[in-house]
Amino acid sequence: METYKNVYSNGDVIVTYEPSRCIHAEACAKGLSSVFKTSVIPWIDLDGASTKKIISQVKKCPSGALACSTVRTKEFVKDFVI
Ligand code: SF4
Repeated sequence: METYKNVYSNGDVIVTYEPSRCIHAEACAKGLSSVFKTSVIPWIDLDGASTKKIISQVKKCPSGALACSTVRTKEFVKDFVI
């Protein structure tokens, strides 16, 4: 998994995180702790669960700090994260 500041991808999905919107409710860490960590950096590890589970958990973020989109090509990932 390649990791860039607040942008994460496993090749199938791109997850973004906006710290200023996070209300630290920890819904993500409690709901899918294998992906969303509270004490490890990088704190999002997209290798920790299936893409389907990751998308489902991101949609439960109460503040909108987490967002995601699916990836169509590796080139899109490269263009997106630079
Ligand atoms: S679920 Fe959203 S608001 Fe809650 S801690 Fe995670 S990123 Fe922040």
